[in-house]
Amino acid sequence: MESPYLLRQARIERITRLTEKERLFRLVFEDDKTLGHVPGQFIMLSIFGAGEAPISVSSPPDTRNEFEICVRVVGSLTNVLHTLLKGSTVGIRGPYGKGFPVKEIENKDILLIAGGIGLVPMRSLIKTILLKRGAYGRITLLYGVKSPEDILFKDELDEWSKVPDFDLRITVDKPHPLWKGHTGVVTRYLPELKIDAERTAAVIVGPPVMYKYVIMGLGEKRIAGHEIFLSLERRMKCGIGKCGHCQINSVYICQEGPVFRLSDIRRLREAI
Ligand SMILES: Cc1cc2nc3c(=O)[nH]c(=O)nc-3n(C[C@H](O)[C@H](O)[C@H](O)COP(=O)(O)OP(=O)(O)OC[C@H]3O[C@@H](n4cnc5c(N)ncnc54)[C@H](O)[C@@H]3O)c2cc1C
Repeated sequence: MESPYLLRQARIERITRLTEKERLFRLVFEDDKTLGHVPGQFIMLSIFGAGEAPISVSSPPDTRNEFEICVRVVGSLTNVLHTLLKGSTVGIRGPYGKGFPVKEIENKDILLIAGGIGLVPMRSLIKTILLKRGAYGRITLLYGVKSPEDILFKDELDEWSKVPDFDLRITVDKPHPLWKGHTGVVTRYLPELKIDAERTAAVIVGPPVMYKYVIMGLGEKRIAGHEIFLSLERRMKCGIGKCGHCQINSVYICQEGPVFRLSDIRRLREAI
């Protein structure tokens, strides 16, 4: 049996600076196989001499041997990644974990709530939905960031906002004088949304502090717990249920998540 720790080599094909802290990397495998992920799954990214870290896949499933990740610079590995140039090689394990139930939420209105870097895995889902636009109902994306400079994928957000029945609302915590959009936390905009709870699936990805309030807001909109999906990020080392770093009670977030159905994890008191 092949070792689960075996790395595949991938070359950095393109680097796009999205903000001061985040860059988008297009990676191409040295072999000709696809990554074979579903939106919401993650890979373990390895850089020789710098370490390994879990990173979400940001592109939709691809039949080619390419995919994209968007990485915020925070520490040792991510600092080194941000110094690499086009043509450099990195190591990839995965894809790992459970992703969003793209098939199950077909024919529903989709309410997406992203906070900060949560838009990174959400982008994979949005692009997948848009590739099969007719299979889904109305799409609403509430996207909250600290300041206008932190908005990721600005051009794509602009394109998405022009898609029929795609309602995009971006809100910032700290606006600057030129900001003409919404301000305040994402939950502020939930009450004004017209939602048909019977036919809506909600997806949440963001910082832990956001979850409690968004879940309360969705409850007020009468969206059932089994129609709410959220991605839980916990610090993890192996990604394959061996090290226990991400474990909550008997649940390994790396294997049973990172995407969970709210009704399945209400019992994990520490999770949300
Ligand atoms: C399933 C999953 C998906 C992820 N997807 C992405 C992604 O798409 N893009 C992205 O930029 N990041 C993502 N992350 C976070 C990413 O894994 C960490 O930022 C990365 O491990 C940092 O590595 P480093 O060596 O640069 O930082 P380190 O030098 O290890 O740490 C720098 C600082 O960040 C803190 N830190 C490190 N990792 C975490 C963490 N997971 N949670 C909270 N604090 C942490 C450390 O305590 C330290 O203060 C994801 C994490 C998980 C679990």
